[in-house]
Amino acid sequence: MPVIYRLKSLPRGHKVALGLLSAAMVVLIMMPTEPAVASRDRSDIPLSNALQDKRQPLEMEVEDLPVVDDHLPVREQMVKVSRGDTLSSIFARQGLSSALLHDISQLGAHAELLRKIHPEERLTFSFDRKGHFAGLSYPLDAARTLDIRQSGTELRSRIISVKLEHRTQYAQASISSNFWGAGVSAGLSPGKIMSLAAMFAWDLDFGLDIRAGDHFAVLYDQRYKDGILVDTGHILAAEFINQGKVYRAVRHDDGNYYSPEGRAMRKSFLRAPVNFSHISSNFNPRRLHPVTGQVKPHRGIDYAARTGTPVVAAGSGVVVESGYSRFNGNYVVIRHDRTYLTKYLHLHQRMVKKGEKVKQEQQIGTVGATGRVTGPHLHYEFLVNGVHKDPKSVDLPQAAFLSRSELARFRPKADKLLAQLSKVSEVMLANN
Ligand SMILES: [Zn+2]
Repeated sequence: MPVIYRLKSLPRGHKVALGLLSAAMVVLIMMPTEPAVASRDRSDIPLSNALQDKRQPLEMEVEDLPVVDDHLPVREQMVKVSRGDTLSSIFARQGLSSALLHDISQLGAHAELLRKIHPEERLTFSFDRKGHFAGLSYPLDAARTLDIRQSGTELRSRIISVKLEHRTQYAQASISSNFWGAGVSAGLSPGKIMSLAAMFAWDLDFGLDIRAGDHFAVLYDQRYKDGILVDTGHILAAEFINQGKVYRAVRHDDGNYYSPEGRAMRKSFLRAPVNFSHISSNFNPRRLHPVTGQVKPHRGIDYAARTGTPVVAAGSGVVVESGYSRFNGNYVVIRHDRTYLTKYLHLHQRMVKKGEKVKQEQQIGTVGATGRVTGPHLHYEFLVNGVHKDPKSVDLPQAAFLSRSELARFRPKADKLLAQLSKVSEVMLANN
């Protein structure tokens, strides 16, 4: 039975219990990030400067009046972007001048952000007590808002960042029938299940190697704003026990995953050139040849999958053959270097040409049933110096290590995360 245990810990972030606008006003003062200024003489701007110039010292005895900022926003108007909207059509609907739009377009990189508005996004305009433009805010993502303010005769813009609260979530499961089902029972989203498989895709063939009793545990990050989940973050660390063998990986701040020792999880070859979520049945290595009925040495691995399923290059290299034969059907051969060659047979579609360079994980075709077969599947062969090998057991080129200085930064964080991972595992086991 898959088991679920979750831990709400590490309340690293401060809970920002402010509405977007009020937070915006506060941070506006505190975080002067990426400011940009555009100014222009406009006849409709005026008064505060002119008034201040007239406050002469000869009236010193008069009590100082509070300075009235004419640009203080007193009214807000939220606009939802519709299909076909442009910034200029939105401005026109708000009764805002093209001169203002022109000024905003002078705000450099910030103006560029506004050019990328999409349907369903929201722009919030604010107006001063005279009904003049006072500001515009545009949320870029859960944490960042572009804020443009009228300040005297100038426009000022900046990106306001709100600190999101991070919570580390924990999930684990033992696999009873299949990996996907276990992931779902552990409370992982489809995206997280795919990410978890992707972390170990160079070590494990998730289509064929997963067995009942395999187990995984994951720590991942979720971001909250005002107590509401706004963004599901990355997997921070994970452990996968496959047929008794333990695989562990931790995310480094370069965005890649490394073993606890600092070896890159990414290697020269994927374990399977078809995504596990498409593979429909396990391969029996001692099967009779489906057409001839004879037990025949099978020099490859068969991945049963629906016609049309994407087939990717197991490693980067050059396509040395892309053709058709009576037995192989549509097939592609990739040379990775002097030593390694991979073959992909019975394709429905070939998507690369002879001589073409391909990258690891690049789609080269689709699963099909061409050639001498009884049903759609990918027949995959792995050759080392011209000899067929089992890609699961063959020695493969070693993955790169983190540099000494990177390792020094990686290790303390990795140790902490892995300790956390085993600690929550123990708590879970104790509770069971
Ligand atoms: Zn085969």
